[in-house]
This record gives sequence, C-alpha cells and structure tokens, in this order.
Amino acid sequence: MKKDHVLVPEPSSKFNKVKCHECEEEQIVYSHSTAQVICNSCGNILSKSTGSKAKINGKILESAE
Ligand SMILES: [Zn+2]
Repeated sequence: MKKDHVLVPEPSSKFNKVKCHECEEEQIVYSHSTAQVICNSCGNILSKSTGSKAKINGKILESAE
C-alpha cells in the first residue's frame, strides 16, 4: 500500500488556535510561521516572525499538534 507523503513539522513547532484581541475571530497560526499572519476578519496582526519563532499577538486557546 502506497502512503501519501505527509508533511511533518519540526518537533518544537506546532499549530496554535489564536483568538484575535480585536474581534474575537479564531484562527489557526503556525508557531514558526515566517510570514505575518493577519486576522481574516479585522486585519489585526495575529503573528509576527521574529527570526526563529513567531510572536503570537492574541490569545492562544489551544495547540494542535
Ligand atoms: Zn480580528
């Protein structure tokens, strides 16, 4: 049986569910995202790259491995 290629994130990285401070929209943000993540609803910056680890600008509700 042929398995599909699965993208495995680095061990220390994860996906976080972040709630926007401004409008309470919830979005999934990758902890090591190199791109700025903007709220879909209001345009608030949810995650900013700081070099290695992204700085989350919002409330982290839960993390999804
Ligand atoms: Zn927002």
